[in-house]
Amino acid sequence: MERTAPRIVMKFGGTSVADLDRIRAVAKRVQAQVDAGCEVAVVVSAMAGVTNRLVGYCDALSPLHDPREYDAVVAAGEQITSGLLAIALQSLGIRSRSWLGWQIPVRTDDAHGKARICSIDGDGLIACMRSGQVPVIAGFQGVDNEERIATLGRGGSDTSAVAVASAVKADRCDIYTDVDGIYTTDPRIVAKARKLDKITYEEMLELASVGAKVLQTRSVELAMKERVRVQVLSSFSDNAPAPDGRLPGSLVVDEDEILEQELVTGIAYSRDEARISMRRIPDRPGIAAAIFGPLADANINVDMIVQSSGEDGMTNMTFTTGKADLQRAIALAEAAREVTQYGELITDDSVVKISVVGVGMRSHAGVASTMFRILSDRGINIQVISTSEIKVSVLIAADYAELAIRALHTAYGLDAA
Ligand code: ADP
Ligand code: ASP
Ligand code: MG
Repeated sequence: MERTAPRIVMKFGGTSVADLDRIRAVAKRVQAQVDAGCEVAVVVSAMAGVTNRLVGYCDALSPLHDPREYDAVVAAGEQITSGLLAIALQSLGIRSRSWLGWQIPVRTDDAHGKARICSIDGDGLIACMRSGQVPVIAGFQGVDNEERIATLGRGGSDTSAVAVASAVKADRCDIYTDVDGIYTTDPRIVAKARKLDKITYEEMLELASVGAKVLQTRSVELAMKERVRVQVLSSFSDNAPAPDGRLPGSLVVDEDEILEQELVTGIAYSRDEARISMRRIPDRPGIAAAIFGPLADANINVDMIVQSSGEDGMTNMTFTTGKADLQRAIALAEAAREVTQYGELITDDSVVKISVVGVGMRSHAGVASTMFRILSDRGINIQVISTSEIKVSVLIAADYAELAIRALHTAYGLDAA
């Protein structure tokens, strides 16, 4: 049967479904799209704070808990919201039902706690929409090959939404959240942050991967691969077009859809960093492999790395990991001391990584040097630097995060008029 009605996926994050009033408001928003003639599938997160509470329960019982049981616990938040929103929709006279990950099914790998979606069967959801119902899908969850519940990593409902949009061949995936779009930086840190009407997949991917949590990194990766049109909107405003004709929200698009490319598109930060420095290690082949091999074997991601130039046959190595991995990384470094023979191990988790991102960097020099100058003018010491084709990142003391982000935002001409 030919499809004429537009088909959209609407995703609502934790603050958008934080209490029953918010859930009623979400139901009305869905109703407006149904009344406008759209076929709608909804993806929901857990109510704000619920996932954190569930994670806390697991940690409190055992810091080294079984990740499969962690998933059974933390997936519960989304189950509750999907049922509640289906009830709220039914109260408005809209036919609706909840769908849990295993009922669709959303198949994942077995990397519990940060599982990847392998496939989604869209047939049941499409049949549901075709029959005039609104499916309300529990985000963040799926089921592995052994029929165990798996979750997709923090912020994973964004990825559920994009994956569902791809599986049901939706025309659009609308991500409703507590800000009205994607900004040049976190608008909660910089009041002068500017909303971007459009941003490229590539830049959004880079911003997400260095800490801009407005979209989960994998959701952007998937949208780019599956060509899903993603729009970020506020669930707190009416998203009417502005009087000057500007669009509500932000669209994630291909590079050729952006007319004027700025040098720097945005600035992101991540507080989830810890620094490890090994002082006075022998400057000879094989040392880096002896340090980083065991970390890789233990699935510990190492992000930034610097090795200082050697002197007297000795050198220093500094690198960063996620805060949650710091204790394990220290234990592994100490275990390998016989080989690496470092003199001293220093760690610091009061650090923040600040990154500037823009595809314009491919063709223009000077972004990094501006960053270093601005930080130096403010007396902020740079501990580690890393760069990629469209990004420069620095590690600095956490106390200076806001000062640095605001100064850089102004320096790159990103402040709203
Ligand atoms: P949700 O619960 O809806 O998934 P999140 O808290 O995961 O919401 O993501 C939205 C938050 O992302 C915003 O409240 C904002 O503080 C933060 N954020 C960080 N960087 C940006 C950015 N560049 N643009 C917009 N929001 C950002
Ligand atoms: N509820 C999950 C979390 O808090 C998933 C999400 O909100 O996207 O991480
Ligand atoms: Mg989120």
